[in-house]
Amino acid sequence: MDDLNLDKASVTALAAFGGRPLFSTPKPVSNLPRPDFNAFLAYLKRAYDRGVLTGRGPVVQDLEKRLCQFHEVPHCVTFNSGFWALAAVMKSLALPGRDEVIMPSLTYRRMADIAGWAGLKPRFCEVNRVNMTNTAVCVQPCLTSSTALIIGVHPISGLADIDGLSQLAGEVGVPLVFDSVESVYEAHQGRRIGGFGTAEVFSLGASKLVNGFEGGYVTTCDRSVAQRLRATLRQTDAEPSTGVAFNGGLSEIHAAMALSCLDDIDNQITRNRRRYLAYKQHLKDLSGIRLLEFSEADRPGYKNIVAEITADWPLERDETIQLLNAELILARAYYPQPLHWRKMGYPHVRSELPDTDEMSRRYVLLPCGELVTEIDITRICELLKFIARNAREIRLTRTGQTS
Ligand SMILES: *Cc1c(COP(=O)(O)O)cnc(C)c1O
Repeated sequence: MDDLNLDKASVTALAAFGGRPLFSTPKPVSNLPRPDFNAFLAYLKRAYDRGVLTGRGPVVQDLEKRLCQFHEVPHCVTFNSGFWALAAVMKSLALPGRDEVIMPSLTYRRMADIAGWAGLKPRFCEVNRVNMTNTAVCVQPCLTSSTALIIGVHPISGLADIDGLSQLAGEVGVPLVFDSVESVYEAHQGRRIGGFGTAEVFSLGASKLVNGFEGGYVTTCDRSVAQRLRATLRQTDAEPSTGVAFNGGLSEIHAAMALSCLDDIDNQITRNRRRYLAYKQHLKDLSGIRLLEFSEADRPGYKNIVAEITADWPLERDETIQLLNAELILARAYYPQPLHWRKMGYPHVRSELPDTDEMSRRYVLLPCGELVTEIDITRICELLKFIARNAREIRLTRTGQTS
């Protein structure tokens, strides 16, 4: 069915109803950059040849320097994942004697667990309805005398409320940390993300913009913050004040991969942008699916593609995702489950978050990244148009199947 003319296909040719999937290999919603293999090996060889294979070796140190240059900051501390980078940040920056971390509910699925690991309580706040970020207006009502830390999360399209949150955090004297995984490449008023707030956290996971297979890092302009974070990685003389040292540093092989990925990042962004523009072109006349647009002013990395399923779309969002998944289009709900809906085995504070509830039902991540071509995108959009045209018959076929 790879050369299927969708105009002629009948609804029963959809993979959900037994037809052959549109694609023979899955089309993911992650970046999955694969830098030049020899470039990766050349970085790795430095560690290998020097025989320094443990601890914070030469390649890790090179990577930290490169990331400092890239983000225009004086300090960078690498970790073995974004998760543990966030854990180290929460544990070492939370105000002593207080225990609540304000975070959006509509975010990275393990964000609350990280607070749990750090012995802190997540308190969930709303996100705005424009680009699903937790602005100062969302955070304000959650401030209490127990607030130990505020987490601002950069959304996929657009930026976090950097100025509003910085002002609010400054007024109440609470540290502000940005989860900047979605905004590695972006700039705020001409200045690259990385030096805002008390610290910013990034991931080097394979699905992210800079791929180290696994890994994470924290950038900061504050020397004492960097020192406290380094102390969490020191096994022998962990600072008793934090008492949370853990074996969570980055390895040389991961740093080598991340460095080779950084070498190619501008080209990657060019490819990402082409994919984004292909979606924009193909979806512009399709009512019911609204692409979240990037603003050139943010110098975007075009890392992910998010679309809103609006009231004009004839099927439910999750039903649409099922149809796409059957075709090996691995579209996903963004996000399937806000954190405040979940069961948690650790202390937390939740309240009603109606905007979050509503936003969590509307959005979908569409295939993107290095394994998706512009031709793939044309076909994905044609399939969406086919679904829109045949929605009535799809519903009837589905009902017939289940009854
Ligand atoms: C992936 C991700 C993380 C965690 O990073 P890992 O390196 O996978 O542990 C944190 N925040 C956001 C927004 C993410 O997308």
